[in-house]
Amino acid sequence: MKFISTRGGGAVNGAQAIVRGMAADGGLFVPEAFPTVSKQEIASMIEMDYPERAAFVLHKFFDEYREDELLSACREAYSRFEEEDAAPLVKVENGMYMLELFHGPTCAFKDMALSVLPFLLKRGCELSGIKEEILVLAATSGDTGKAALEGFKDAAGVKVMVFYPEDGVSKMQKLQMSVQEGDNVNVVAVRGNFDDCQRGVKKIFASDDCAKALKEKNVLLSSANSINIGRLVPQIAYYFSAYCDLLSSEQIVYGDKVDFTVPTGNFGNILAAFYAKKMGLPVGRLICASNANRVLTDFFQKGIYDSGRTLRKTMSPSMDILVSSNLERLVFEFSGRDAALTADRMNSLAATGKYSVRPDELKELRKSFAAGCTGDAEMVDCIYEFFTEYGYPMDPHTGVAMDVAVRYCEKRDEDPNAEKPPMVVVSTASPYKFPQDVYYALTGNDVKDSFKGIKRINLITAMNVPESLKAIRYKPIRFKQVVSADKMFDEVLKFV
Ligand SMILES: *Cc1c(COP(=O)(O)O)cnc(C)c1O
Repeated sequence: MKFISTRGGGAVNGAQAIVRGMAADGGLFVPEAFPTVSKQEIASMIEMDYPERAAFVLHKFFDEYREDELLSACREAYSRFEEEDAAPLVKVENGMYMLELFHGPTCAFKDMALSVLPFLLKRGCELSGIKEEILVLAATSGDTGKAALEGFKDAAGVKVMVFYPEDGVSKMQKLQMSVQEGDNVNVVAVRGNFDDCQRGVKKIFASDDCAKALKEKNVLLSSANSINIGRLVPQIAYYFSAYCDLLSSEQIVYGDKVDFTVPTGNFGNILAAFYAKKMGLPVGRLICASNANRVLTDFFQKGIYDSGRTLRKTMSPSMDILVSSNLERLVFEFSGRDAALTADRMNSLAATGKYSVRPDELKELRKSFAAGCTGDAEMVDCIYEFFTEYGYPMDPHTGVAMDVAVRYCEKRDEDPNAEKPPMVVVSTASPYKFPQDVYYALTGNDVKDSFKGIKRINLITAMNVPESLKAIRYKPIRFKQVVSADKMFDEVLKFV
């Protein structure tokens, strides 16, 4: 299967698209055509375990990799999860489910893809005859960085470097990254917000000077952000998996539609759901949930993407983003795959912070998507009420999604003629990853220290504490460096 750029650049195979991370014309790689999954294939997936389901979906896109090697990579990756099932579906009540994606080594959904990306990348280099050392760069709003570091640590022939906004991640996220082990890793804080980090990394990717300087050192850049198609495809698998679990538990019959609500930042997770739909999965609506940084909510309302506002810091830091990179892929699809128009729009975004889509495109978008946003106060209430009613604790990102989902369903149910498909809320992080805010949500009280917060949440909820978070407490801090955004590439050069 070939991949093309959203801005018109030529076709490459999957291995090359993964290794490069981003197309040379500044666009993002997308499949030339979407592979399809038939009813029979979905029926056969019901019998599979999670690694088999994931390998099946990966092979649909990356057919130059052998299916058996994809399967053994997935088996290895998901064996590092703390639950037997890497993506369990939990029933809350009739018609409402949680898809738990936080049982990986870093307790957020980024592990679903970043546990297998190292294999895809290393094998991709072999398949493409690439001999250089690979430097994986990531900008992180908190969770990608740790998951990339954990996925790539001590991998031969690969170095990984993570930039995060100095004051834009939670205490636990910062601590997780600062104690990272491995000889091939580096973590640097940037003075600025996530958008500054992401812009800095994209600039390094786009710069000929940077490429030249790295070439002299025999280093090739790749990306662990969801701009990399190797990040997106493993995320498609869990939407199929959720559907199969609904089928096998007889909550639905084949062909029934299912809605998903996804807490959204860079638009990678929800885009994977849309790709599953394009492949033939009976998906109804996708509800894009945002926090106070409601750029996407406004976009789906008005058809204008306007990043020209101040980034607000919220309790869901992994969604504190104004420029959602993967929206480019969606806009490309809904423009009728018009690469020239997509390039124009992205140039306008870079120059003016804005672009708009036509009314006919917006109308089509709104058939597949709904959007909503919620503030910290409402999210906190939602976590409290949900725990009181169902005994189920959520992290703040999942809390945003739940609050938006509940309001969406209430509004929908007022209309007697509306379809009412089951709702799956995608749960993207463990509540223990944000212990102080979750403790506050559950009790209205503050707790001074993250680990005390973990202990108290455990006393209230009796939910198991992830081993990986317990272990952090006793690890030495390795990374403390802070630089300004214009010095990011200097740090890269020092590291390689
Ligand atoms: C990254 C992240 C998100 C946002 O996902 P995108 O793919 O960037 O939209 C939501 N919740 C958590 C916990 C995350 O780590």
